[in-house]
Amino acid sequence: MSEASWTVVDEYVSSHLLKADAALAEALLNNSENNLPPIDVSPVQGKMLMLLAQLAGARHILEIGTLGGYSTIWLARALPADGKLVTLEVDRKHARVAAENLERAGLADKVDIKVGPAKDSLAAMPAGDPFDFVFIDADKQGNIHYVEQAIRLGRSGTTVIVDNVVREGAIVDEGNDDPRVIGTRKLFEYVSSHPKLNATAIQTVGSKGWDGFLLARVA
Ligand code: SAM
Repeated sequence: MSEASWTVVDEYVSSHLLKADAALAEALLNNSENNLPPIDVSPVQGKMLMLLAQLAGARHILEIGTLGGYSTIWLARALPADGKLVTLEVDRKHARVAAENLERAGLADKVDIKVGPAKDSLAAMPAGDPFDFVFIDADKQGNIHYVEQAIRLGRSGTTVIVDNVVREGAIVDEGNDDPRVIGTRKLFEYVSSHPKLNATAIQTVGSKGWDGFLLARVA
């Protein structure tokens, strides 16, 4: 099986289980017109995130790594009427495009885009109103710090998802010293030994290639 076949299967799944969606299509078009890299989650992954957030009963969601807000739209749609999502983005242009896309999707009032390095935004966030669901999809070298912050800002039962933890299998290629791969290996070590985390990871193939999600529950 090749990426082309995975893409055809993704399209099959989408054609059966995902409805045509103007807001999401326009968001991807706007991202492309603004030259944002096409590194958003795929449609089927976005819907999976939305369903997981709904299954978790999430009312307060944290996202680290907004890009143009494609995954943000999916996640914000999981929220109840009074729910809120905070998303962190370092790049001003990405944040501006995301704001446009969220406005067009009718979700601007539910989403707070904090612009700046996620580390700084997280440091400024008090632990009072815990997040129920955290999606981590920014710089991979920062992942351990982001998981630590997800625990600090979460509660018992918070769901934490980290994207891109397989990287075409590079995590098991000992000769690969890409900092993102090293960061991901360190993340597995950190999560495996953390007393407050119960986790697994699942490999994914599809229109975005071969990768995977790490899923953890905070004890
Ligand atoms: N979650 C998005 C989606 O699926 O639509 C994709 C996010 S993209 C993979 C990663 C984003 O993280 C980029 O927009 C990048 O600018 C942002 N980013 C990278 N390093 C960051 C940092 N230190 N703090 C905040 N955002 C960062």
